[in-house]
Amino acid sequence: MDVTPILDTLNDAQREAVTAPAEPMLVIAGAGSGKTRVLVHRAAWLIDVEGVPPQGLLAVTFTNKAAAEMRGRIETLLKLPVNPLWIGTFHGLAHRLLRRHWREAGLPQGFQIIDADDQLRLIKRLLKNLEVDDSRWVPREIQYFINGQKDEGLRPEHLDDERDPDRRQMIELYKAYEAVCERGGLVDFAELLLAAHELFRDNAELLGHYRRRFQHLLVDEFQDTNAIQYAWLRLLAGDQSVPFVVGDDDQSIYRWRGARVEHIHQFQRDFPGTRVVKLEQNYRSTGTILNAANAVIANNGSRMGKNLWTEGVDGEPIRLYAAYNERDEADFVVARLRDWIDQGNLRADAAILYRSNAQSRVLEEGLINARIPYRVYGGLRFFERAEIKDALAYLRLTVNRDDDASFERIVNRPTRGIGARTVEAMRAYARANACSMWRAAGAVASDTLSGRAASSVSAFMQLIEKLAHETETLDLEDKVDHVVHASGLIDLFKKDKGERGETRIENLMELVSAAKGFEPDPAEDMAPLDAFLAHAALEAGEGQANAWDDCVQLMTMHSAKGLEFPLVFLCGMEDGLFPHQRSINDPNGLEEERRLCYVGITRAMQALYVTYAEQRRLHGMDNFSVPSRFIAEIPEEHVEEVRPKVSVSRPLRNAGAGRPRSPSNGMAEAGVRLGQRVRHGKFGDGVVLNYEGQGAHARVEVNFENVGTKWLVLSYANLDLM
Ligand code: ATP
Ligand code: MG
Repeated sequence: MDVTPILDTLNDAQREAVTAPAEPMLVIAGAGSGKTRVLVHRAAWLIDVEGVPPQGLLAVTFTNKAAAEMRGRIETLLKLPVNPLWIGTFHGLAHRLLRRHWREAGLPQGFQIIDADDQLRLIKRLLKNLEVDDSRWVPREIQYFINGQKDEGLRPEHLDDERDPDRRQMIELYKAYEAVCERGGLVDFAELLLAAHELFRDNAELLGHYRRRFQHLLVDEFQDTNAIQYAWLRLLAGDQSVPFVVGDDDQSIYRWRGARVEHIHQFQRDFPGTRVVKLEQNYRSTGTILNAANAVIANNGSRMGKNLWTEGVDGEPIRLYAAYNERDEADFVVARLRDWIDQGNLRADAAILYRSNAQSRVLEEGLINARIPYRVYGGLRFFERAEIKDALAYLRLTVNRDDDASFERIVNRPTRGIGARTVEAMRAYARANACSMWRAAGAVASDTLSGRAASSVSAFMQLIEKLAHETETLDLEDKVDHVVHASGLIDLFKKDKGERGETRIENLMELVSAAKGFEPDPAEDMAPLDAFLAHAALEAGEGQANAWDDCVQLMTMHSAKGLEFPLVFLCGMEDGLFPHQRSINDPNGLEEERRLCYVGITRAMQALYVTYAEQRRLHGMDNFSVPSRFIAEIPEEHVEEVRPKVSVSRPLRNAGAGRPRSPSNGMAEAGVRLGQRVRHGKFGDGVVLNYEGQGAHARVEVNFENVGTKWLVLSYANLDLM
């Protein structure tokens, strides 16, 4: 018997990690081997057995959802709440520190977080103000440049223009952007991390305090930390706190966002004497799924290398479906989901994963038609919808008048006679006096503007003051409810008679319920509205407000990291889509895509479907594609091809018994007959085996020498007869 039930459900290697003495620890292991589980048990062990108080721990996870889950699991193990334990994403924790120490960080108390979309708008406006040509200086590129520098810990003054005028201009724009953010008390995502790092770097006393407090630092998904996150961690650890990090080099998928898998090696150099534990038993997936994943990732050259095995059953083969287009793909997925649900399974146990957000639309249409409830993570995020951002802008302005992004968003929404000219006059004043739009509005309303414009501006300012005053003593839900109505937004959308207006009103009401159900992190000590606004900005696509229904889960493979589902569909497995076109000719890019494929496959516990479409309409363009090269990397013995369900054709093979039917019209027109040799632009040479449908819908099944059998739409396939 164990001294504590905490160790009951761990294998030897996991137990070694959980009970290790207080020394730097690196757990490096493949998917589903229990890394996250080890982290949870380590926290419980430290508190329960080693007697570390909960406030002595800091745990970093990759999403807010994972943070909430981790807290729940620790509490279940310990059978008591651990409120003072700090647990969150790097961004969330950085934000908490900055709220507590805004003075030391040089921020205004009511600073607001802006998301990527706000940031882009801000940059566009900045270019306009500076009269910089935005076709030459592309806002997105500037945004990428600024965030990239911040991720590396660099301010404009650290940057050398290398006597390159273009680079000089970029640095100037970075500087100007900083000034605008400072003036408005605005903090973007990358700034959260950078400012939190500088806070520690420049305040020895504060750093000392947190170093003494956090005796143990626990980090999940360590392979995806970027330079500034790692620097922050190292600074905080000093030579007293004990870092315990878990990760998998094969699951590093955020290089494009600055993540550096090299930190795994760096860690061992920075913390000499690091103990390394490897976990090799997988508890998540069937043998078939695991073998498929192992075989795919084996094609990557730069790996630390590890063996992953399971005691579990082999399970079902991986099912491969060749759809003839994206609709057929969606129909197939929906039909299989129907079966799954009819067999009494939970919808929430099924996930549809894809490479790009744009793929979700057709899948969603299929699910809507079939009346299967679903939820999309990422993509159209609840807190990013226009009407939600409008409402949030009103709320933000009630707490911080200097928030220019919010000011400009709603100053004339609903329309109140404040035109572009008036706004321009305010901007000019703000620019000249280096003040916020709010201050500028007050000044131009009394000095420069004509009577009507001036009274419109004053009316807007009075409205904001009134909202702030009226909601002062209300609780969070009532605050949001009041602002949504009194701002005029509800009336505005009521005028929009169509479905869209209705949806928008529903969404605003959903915001009120989100406020009602909002539970601030217990370790947080912020005003509820501030906490709610920060949550809205930080939630960054982790799902919608009502997360408790039983829904099929749709998300990109990127957002599926760390999660697991009994049933998984990997859709759109086509070269050019996955691996992504951008990466195909870049060996590093291709390896990152392959790691993403490894992540995708290893999300599945019992059943995995892989689908691709021979023809796909995406971003308004038709593409013919070949199956993803990753499919061919899965050993054949693990794969079973699924035949199209609604086949009306007969195989040619038993034609010996009688003559094949005469081809349908489409076939005859195209001059195609069964047994005909044909050549396809991508698939090469093959023989026609089968056909179905008529006219524009006629499809043929061709057995290609190199890529096997495929169904093609005759009118699109452009087959050459041979
Ligand atoms: P990923 O790399 O995908 O993040 P991971 O290594 O973090 O995976 P976990 O999510 O911790 O893996 O564990 C995978 C699954 O295996 C979970 O359902 C977990 O509960 C289960 N599991 C892990 N270890 C054990 C064990 N010793 N006994 C039983 N189940 C286990
Ligand atoms: Mg994990």
